[in-house]
Amino acid sequence: MDDGLRFTCQRGCTNCCERQGFVYLTEQDLRNAARYLGMSVAAFERRYVYRTAHLIRLRKPRASQCHFLGPNGCAIHPAKPTQCRLFPFWPELVEHRAAWNAEAQYCPGIGTGPLIQIGTAVETADEMRRAYSAMYFDRKL
Ligand code: SF4
Ligand code: SF4
Repeated sequence: MDDGLRFTCQRGCTNCCERQGFVYLTEQDLRNAARYLGMSVAAFERRYVYRTAHLIRLRKPRASQCHFLGPNGCAIHPAKPTQCRLFPFWPELVEHRAAWNAEAQYCPGIGTGPLIQIGTAVETADEMRRAYSAMYFDRKL
């Protein structure tokens, strides 16, 4: 992509939280969310987290995609995991115009708002890559 992207998150929308998929966390995400909820990291992890050798993700409740999605949106919004905070500036979307455009059918914020320079979008996507290096670089999964 050689030009910019338009995006503004839409008030009241929770589409991305309702999509089928997993929410992965960094170790810092884990500490932030636990602190925000006033829980110890160990207690937060026991209750909400599934951990393997190479990744950490939120457990999913039976009836929804995320324990923290409530009627008023994300219950841990100020401390939400990196992938939630950076969406839709994920490498697989920012670096492929067709994928970015296709994502607009789920995310009504795509294509709206001021133009975001592609360099800024790529920097954000790089933050995503660094945060989840096991998925993007190490290919240990
Ligand atoms: S789907 Fe898009 S507009 Fe809706 S909450 Fe997620 S990022 Fe915002
Ligand atoms: S942690 Fe919050 S922002 Fe992320 S999927 Fe769950 S409710 Fe949505």
